[in-house]
Amino acid sequence: MVHFKEFKLEEKILRAIEQLGYTEPTEVQQKVIPVVLEKQDVLVKSKTGSGKTASFATPLCELVDWEENKPQALVLTPTRELAVQVQEDITNIGRYKRIKGLALYGKSPFARQKLALKQKTHIIVGTPGRVLDHIEKGTLDVSKIEYLVIDEADEMLNMGFLEQVESIIKLLPKTRTTMLFSATLSEQIKKLSSKYMKQAVSIEIDASE
Ligand code: ADP
Ligand code: MG
Repeated sequence: MVHFKEFKLEEKILRAIEQLGYTEPTEVQQKVIPVVLEKQDVLVKSKTGSGKTASFATPLCELVDWEENKPQALVLTPTRELAVQVQEDITNIGRYKRIKGLALYGKSPFARQKLALKQKTHIIVGTPGRVLDHIEKGTLDVSKIEYLVIDEADEMLNMGFLEQVESIIKLLPKTRTTMLFSATLSEQIKKLSSKYMKQAVSIEIDASE
C-alpha cells in the first residue's frame, strides 16, 4: 500500500488530506503527484472519478509560496460548477497552509470578482472566457503564474474553448509548469500539449484497471 506520507509533502498538507479521509492515493495520484512536485510538465489521461483533482491540487498547495501576493497557479476548467468544486478541493487541501483559492466564472458580477482579485490569492480557478476577460482588463495579474492546469481538456475543447485557452496560454510567463488532464485524448489535445508543453511526462491510466 502506498501512502501520501511517501510523497515529499509538508505536514500541513498531509494533515489536511488525512482529514478529507483519503488514506491511500489513487493510481493517478500515485503517478502524477511526484512528477508535479518535480515541476515537470504532465499530460494525464485518466477516467472520470479517478481522483485527478487532488493529483494536481496536492502538489500545487505544496509548491506555492505563501508569502507571494500575486497568483502563482491558474487552473482552467470548462464549467462554473467545476471551477467551484476544484476551488473547494484546493481550499480543503491547503487549509492548514492557509492557501487562498479564488473561482472566476462567467454570468457572475465582474466587479465583485475584480474586488476579490485585489486580495492576496495563491491559486486562481476559472472558466476560460472570464479568466481571459480579467487578464485583458488588467484585473488579473498573471506575471507570477508558475503553474498552469488545463482540467477536463476534452470537455474544454468540446465546448469550443480552444481559442480562448490558447489566448490565455500566450499571455502567461514562458517558464512555467503545465499540466493537462483529460478523460480522453484526442488528436486535438495531443496537438495542444505538444504546442505548449515542454518534454511532458505522459501518464495514461488504463480504463480497464
Ligand atoms: P476526476 O477529476 O478524476 O473525475 P475527482 O478528482 O473529482 O475525479 O475525484 C472523484 C472523487 O474521489 C471525489 O469525491 C474525491 O473526493 C474522491 N477522492 C479523490 N482522491 C481520493 C483518495 N485518495 N481517496 C479517497 N477518495 C478520493
Ligand atoms: Mg476532474
